Amino acid sequence: MTHPYTDTRTNLIGLTRDELVAKLAEIGEKPFRAKQIWHWLYHQGVTDIAAMSSLSKTLHAKMEQHFYIGRLEVARHLTSEDGSQKWLFRLEDGSEVETVLIPDEGRGALCISSQVGCSLNCDFCNTGTQNIVRNLTPAEIIGQLLAARDSQGEWPSGVDGRLLTNIVMMGMGEPLMNFDNVKKALLIIKDGEGIAISKRRITLSTSGVVPMMARCGDEIEVDLAVSLHAARDELRDVLVPINKKYPLDQLLTACAAYPGARNARRITMEYVMIKDVNDSPDDARLLAKLMHQYQIPAKFNLIPFNPWPGTRYETSSNNAVHRFSRILNDLGYSAPIRQPRGRDIMAACGQLKSDSENLKLKALAAKRAKPDPAPLPV
Ligand code: SF4
Repeated sequence: MTHPYTDTRTNLIGLTRDELVAKLAEIGEKPFRAKQIWHWLYHQGVTDIAAMSSLSKTLHAKMEQHFYIGRLEVARHLTSEDGSQKWLFRLEDGSEVETVLIPDEGRGALCISSQVGCSLNCDFCNTGTQNIVRNLTPAEIIGQLLAARDSQGEWPSGVDGRLLTNIVMMGMGEPLMNFDNVKKALLIIKDGEGIAISKRRITLSTSGVVPMMARCGDEIEVDLAVSLHAARDELRDVLVPINKKYPLDQLLTACAAYPGARNARRITMEYVMIKDVNDSPDDARLLAKLMHQYQIPAKFNLIPFNPWPGTRYETSSNNAVHRFSRILNDLGYSAPIRQPRGRDIMAACGQLKSDSENLKLKALAAKRAKPDPAPLPV
């Protein structure tokens, strides 16, 4: 059941197993209850405490006094002609975040947000134009997945033939700037007795928060993607400004040392293809040279730039993208071209939120522009 955000009880979603045990102890319940409740929350996906049928009615009533099962409020849900889906969620404080589901043959990746807005201001990114508001809580990070599963009817967990098989932490925000909450959420999502999405199916994408990369590999143990987008510091300083703090040498050294990275688990180098900016054959050759020099088990993901209103960049031509991919292939690196998805539902990261903000501003402007009511006749 969705509860109003004014609810003063504890949201069961987002608590670790230990926290759940401690919360239950506060109301006099034994630790084994936590295991049962975990199963209902994350394996069965119930949204109502009363639906936990292995617990007594008396316990339901007791729990309902202290806890609730939180679900995010869906502000908008759009489905593209190509099958991808996008949600705009409205949070407790009125902030909004986006989540995208990209289906593929026999699988589907859910792109989850980690922050409201982003502090890193990447020059090609619509989310980067929105100021950072705050970090998402573990409940809000997991809540995006729960809501997507609810809407696809994909409960209980662990049944074959599901659409939502993979997770990419690649939505709004920089996940390594919200490390603790992202870690908590992903450990819950990976837990084998609940949602049980394996670490092989989870990828965390960073724009290069170098000091947190090793901890990500050691403590969360998920695959890594890096928003690279440039092979030269002078260009990356502009496209991905965090590069000024952690330049390519530091970033690539951290990639080479990423725990768990090897040929069977390569690091994905995300590369947005921007016309006449980073799409030359020399750029492709330099990328391959860097991977070789730093001995990084890498693969590339070439993403034709998805323009958004107000951007100064354009998408690379088809020819340029294919030529770039061929050069990387010839030099020994896999470099598939990601097909643009969901253009009709504003799939560029941050675009739906910007659109929603524009609508609100327009509504406000229209209200302000309304002429005063005619004075009453005297
Ligand atoms: S690309 Fe990622 S890190 Fe950069 S501004 Fe956009 S959301 Fe933030």
